[in-house]
Amino acid sequence: MSVVESFDVVIIGGGQAALAASYYLRRTGLSYVILDNGTQAGGAWVHGWDSLHLFSPASYSSLPGWPMPDTAEGSYPTREEVLSYLRRYEEHYALPIRRPVTVERVERTDDDHLKIHTQSGDFLGRAVIGATGTWSSPFTPDYPGRDVFTGTQVHSSHYWDATPFTGQRVLVVGGGNSGAQILAEVSLQANATWVTQDDPAFLPDDVDGRVLFERATARVLSQGDAAPIGGFGEIVMVPPVRAARERGALHAVRPFVRMTPTGVVWPDGREEAIDAIIWCTGFRPALRAFASLDVIEPDGLIRVNGQQAIKEPRLWLLGYGAWCGSASATLLGVGRVARSMIPQLVDWLAVPAQDTR
Ligand code: FAD
Repeated sequence: MSVVESFDVVIIGGGQAALAASYYLRRTGLSYVILDNGTQAGGAWVHGWDSLHLFSPASYSSLPGWPMPDTAEGSYPTREEVLSYLRRYEEHYALPIRRPVTVERVERTDDDHLKIHTQSGDFLGRAVIGATGTWSSPFTPDYPGRDVFTGTQVHSSHYWDATPFTGQRVLVVGGGNSGAQILAEVSLQANATWVTQDDPAFLPDDVDGRVLFERATARVLSQGDAAPIGGFGEIVMVPPVRAARERGALHAVRPFVRMTPTGVVWPDGREEAIDAIIWCTGFRPALRAFASLDVIEPDGLIRVNGQQAIKEPRLWLLGYGAWCGSASATLLGVGRVARSMIPQLVDWLAVPAQDTR
């Protein structure tokens, strides 16, 4: 397919990370475009479940330049409020987003560009920013017998609400914010058991995502660029999770040892019939588009220096979490990482054609 257009920078993915990068790129004079396979603004937020709330208040969940509108005192923005904010953010800054465009692969060319293959033609970029997120790469642990279980299995990325599980025996597997929020909701309508590797880590009631962000910031400041680990696995006591605790539903058990066609076998040998399992077991970075650059390591990550891929300096990664920028998978964190990354990208592009072989 012929080359459609050539840019200084091509951003792949059109969620919050792309918007944050775009906010700083638009001031540099570099030509750039955002390619997103979503059909609407919002990235992963489009797919969140109905009752999903941010775990930090609006004031701690803003992209650069334009604060997220405040919500009722003490409340956390709903998924709808986040989607509306991201949609209006794109419009407000008239960001150059093409959607739906799926990037199939990114390849090296014989000059200093990378070639971005899409279903609607190819693009060339002197640099590429990967902002493809994690939502399209859900992770489900491989328990023995998982493929013979005949009940319902759904990952949190495809969970909408508790209705389909009414009256059923349900396991909610995963001890993070998703697991806690979904357990809180499903336990109102089903016989739900929460399964976690370790005892869940709850933040105190008066502490929310702000503290997690401040801790991540403090770690960055104390360690320089070293990407801190952990921190966002702690559970914020948003109102539905607090209500579940009040009614004694926040009790977690350690995992089953294997699955059977009709249920699970617990460590003490007891078999239990189960109707459904909701896997709240997280995500992996959605990096498939970059596989042809031979930059993805066996652990599924790309080795970076800050945000720049070491094996392919024309590739920059944003928004995937601590490995490419502290708190970069959060609305506030990704703005801070983009603010430091874009000037580095501009400087890098300013240097005559890089010897990148
Ligand atoms: P995404 O939002 O996933 O956007 C990536 C975009 O790239 C998507 O539109 C995707 O379709 C597109 N894409 C992927 N591959 C391709 C391709 N090959 N070609 C073209 N387009 C492609 N963050 C907070 O700040 N506060 C919170 O309270 C919070 N709570 C959360 C609760 C849950 C349950 C979850 C799952 C996440 C939460 N997050 C929170 C994190 C936040 O939602 C994500 O980290 C964020 O959406 C990541 O933004 P992104 O732009 O990096 O990726």
